[in-house]
Formats: sequence, C-alpha cells, structure tokens
Amino acid sequence: MARSTASLRDALRVRPGTRVKLANVDPSATHGHTKESAADELTAGLAGLTDLQDRLWAEGKHKVLVVLQGIDAAGKDGTLRHVMGAFNPQGCPVTSFKVPSADELAHDYLWRVHRAVPGKGEIGVFNRSHYEDVLVVRVHDIVPKTVWSRRYDQINAFEQLLADSGTTIVKFFLYIDRDEQRERFQARLDDPTKRWKFRLGDLEERKRWDDYIAAYEDVLARCSTAAAPWYVIPSNRNWFRNLAVANILADTLDELNPRYPEPTEDLTGVVIE
Ligand code: AMP
Ligand code: MG
Repeated sequence: MARSTASLRDALRVRPGTRVKLANVDPSATHGHTKESAADELTAGLAGLTDLQDRLWAEGKHKVLVVLQGIDAAGKDGTLRHVMGAFNPQGCPVTSFKVPSADELAHDYLWRVHRAVPGKGEIGVFNRSHYEDVLVVRVHDIVPKTVWSRRYDQINAFEQLLADSGTTIVKFFLYIDRDEQRERFQARLDDPTKRWKFRLGDLEERKRWDDYIAAYEDVLARCSTAAAPWYVIPSNRNWFRNLAVANILADTLDELNPRYPEPTEDLTGVVIE
C-alpha cells in the first residue's frame, strides 16, 4: 500500500508550470494496479482514511480542502460516496456548487466559495467549485473573456491565502473520455434509479466536449501550484478512480501527522465510581 500510494501521488500530480495534453492521458490507465488486488487495497486504504480523519478531527488543528471536478458523469458523486464515505460526516462538510443563486450572483464569484472553506479539524469537500467560474462560465461565455481570463491568477491568490492560513489543498480532476460518458449517460437513461441524474441539457454540454477539454487544460496548466496541486485521475474505471483518490488523500493526510490531543486537565488518578 505505502509504495503504490507514493507512486500514484507522484505519477498523477500536475507539476506546476507544465501543460498536460489530455489527449495524451489514458483515462483507462491503472498504473500497474489490477481490479482483483484493488479491492483489498481500497479496503485497507479506507480504513486508513477513517483513522487519519478521526485523529485530524480530534486534534482540531489542520484544515483540509478537497476539490472534486470533472465533466458530467465523470464520477464526482461516486467518489464522494465510496471514498469520502470513510469519513465521519461530522468533520467532513460537503458543498455542492450549482448554478449561482441571485444572492450569489450579487457578489463576487469567490464569495460563496470562501464561506464554505473548511475550519480547523475539518476536511471540506467541494463537489464542483470556484473552477466552474473558468469552466462552464468560459465555455458558455457567461462573462466576457476579459473577465474570466483574470480569474486564474485570482484563484491562485485565493488558494495561496487559504494555504497561508493553514489549509492543505488537494484538487482532483476526474478524467473520462467521450465514449465512457456516452455509456454512462445511456446507463442513466436505462436505469430508473439513475434516470433522475440525467438532464437533456447534459447533451448540450456533451456537444461542447472539446471546449471543456481546452478549458480544463488551461486550469491544469495555470492553477496547479505547490500549495494547491491538481491531480489528473484516470476515471474510466471506477475502481481505479476510487483507489487513486483514496491513496492520494491518505498520503496527504498522513503527512500532516494528526495526533490525538493530550487532555487539557490533569487526569492522573481519576477513577470513575
Ligand atoms: P450537478 O453537479 O449535476 O448537480 O450540476 C450543477 C450544475 O451547476 C452544473 O451544470 C454546473 O456547470 C453548474 N454550475 C456550477 N457552478 C456554476 C457557476 N459558477 N456558473 C454557472 N453554472 C455553474
Ligand atoms: Mg449533472
């Protein structure tokens, strides 16, 4: 587990200042892992995450922000269920960013985001994030280019502020290809328990696949920093996606070395009658 953890984290991180060409990334890659061995690895990894978060929450010192991004049907919800499911919900606030409300639109785009960042002891998870403001907003010309093009630097400054304030940031881009999205959309349509997730508007977005890929490539090139790295997670195979996200999270939390706090009062000799 430890060896593969280190290598996945290293293999999937976007080096600051480099440009990832997504056409050269295999979304079905498994980096030497197999589905058979992954089940046990994931079980062990999730147990590790449960333990790490318990200590992090008890210590109440570190703040961790996890950003989940991906094209429709890339597996954001599945990752939340299968990986973040290892966490005690009390210390793991999840925020799903939707089309901004009137109140949110009356403020700057980071206003709703800043309010949702994790506090001490928390692992805050963003299901979509401020990156939508340089993704969907860019692809649909919701604001002019002169406005969105300044946001990459603004986002880096914002994330640096969070990091300077003691927040550890991990950003996952769940990468599937267009064929995989077709299969998943079709499965959503065919399965009554999944159909609620499908909107006709999803097909309009699908037509803009290349625009989204270009927008993601710019995000990865401009906003993967030492303080807030992006990881590109090959996500055609759910089991590998879960394993990779769990491993990278475990590695990141492990580095924080969270410890159960010492009692603040002297408890020597205290006996419960
Ligand atoms: P879902 O994640 O499927 O519930 O969908 C949420 C929708 O909200 C997606 O279509 C996002 O693109 C959209 N969305 C999220 N943030 C923004 C934003 N800042 N501006 C416009 N649309 C957004
Ligand atoms: Mg959707």
